[in-house]
Amino acid sequence: KRVLGIETSCDETGVAVYDTEAGLLAHTVHSQIDLHAAYGGVVPELASRDHIRLLPALVRQTVRAADCRLDQIDAIGYTAGPGLAGALLVGAGFAESLGMSLDVPVLPIHHLEGHLLSPLLSADPPKFPFVALLVSGGHTQLMSVSGVGEYVLLGETLDDAAGEAFDKTAKLMGLGYPGGPQLAALASEGKPGRFKLPRPMLRSGDLDFSFSGLKTAVLNVVNGVGWKADDAADLAADFQEAAVDVLVAKSLAALEASGLSQLVVAGGVGANRRLRAQLDRAAKRKGWRVFYPEPELCTDNGAMIAFAAALRFERGPGGSPGGAVSVRPRWPLADLRPPVEPAGT
Ligand code: ATP
Ligand code: MG
Ligand code: FE
Repeated sequence: KRVLGIETSCDETGVAVYDTEAGLLAHTVHSQIDLHAAYGGVVPELASRDHIRLLPALVRQTVRAADCRLDQIDAIGYTAGPGLAGALLVGAGFAESLGMSLDVPVLPIHHLEGHLLSPLLSADPPKFPFVALLVSGGHTQLMSVSGVGEYVLLGETLDDAAGEAFDKTAKLMGLGYPGGPQLAALASEGKPGRFKLPRPMLRSGDLDFSFSGLKTAVLNVVNGVGWKADDAADLAADFQEAAVDVLVAKSLAALEASGLSQLVVAGGVGANRRLRAQLDRAAKRKGWRVFYPEPELCTDNGAMIAFAAALRFERGPGGSPGGAVSVRPRWPLADLRPPVEPAGT
């Protein structure tokens, strides 16, 4: 079966075709970074309009790259939430209309389920059950995952998401937009240890996080006497080290508490090299394994949505064409349910 995936939750337009036998056939992502850079953040209305502008051509192009025709698509999955309401509605409206015209099922997909299952697309995938560390621009959560749609929240950030902390810290240090990757690049040129930054909630005894105090600590250094722009690389390294320390410690604690030995890391911050190195090192000592999505599938993309839709389509009755266009800008991942097994199997 071939499943078309459509992602429009924020500032990336992602389209993909996933084949349940042959795997990922094609995927295309268009990032709106240039569009929002002048504003220093995503402007929702501009995001929606750009998704409208690009989606038809991107779908045509991706289906062609997958070497198939639209009438050979068996189901469509789209991101129904969480995300920007207007941006989500563009993808939902497009997917529902296309599904109606092709007479195929349309499945609303949870964006974080897409992120969380994306490591299963790699050559050496983990097997259920596992612990997932979701570290993106909008979320920082530890989940216990026992199957598709079987997610239990173990802990989450009480304020900023890890990616948000990277972005905001980069901004206050005067780095460009979007800041996270640039802050990470700067950190790799610096040496940690000079600036004493906090490890918020490291010893809180639970699996929750907090990152806003870390950002404030960096602000205080930058505003303090004796601050020199030459110190920026070392400060970036200390910020990254502090964030990584907490993410690693809590991930290990989650594995320990749940008795599981596989950790799946998903979301944009999962691309961070220092985080990967420290997680791998710590897990190895325990005999545990850490799984990551392919680097290009860490940030938002259509492939993860096509894949999550395919898993649900294969296992359950799926959606129906001509369903109401509805989105959920706020949608807790733990609210999801497994796809229902068809009767008689
Ligand atoms: P959500 O999935 O929660 O809705 P999102 O889709 O905006 O949020 P992603 O696209 O998964 O988030 O990830 C983007 C985030 O990842 C940004 O905050 C970005 O700064 C961060 N990021 C990307 N690369 C790196 C890196 N190498 N180091 C640290 N952070 C990074
Ligand atoms: Mg984005
Ligand atoms: Fe995302």
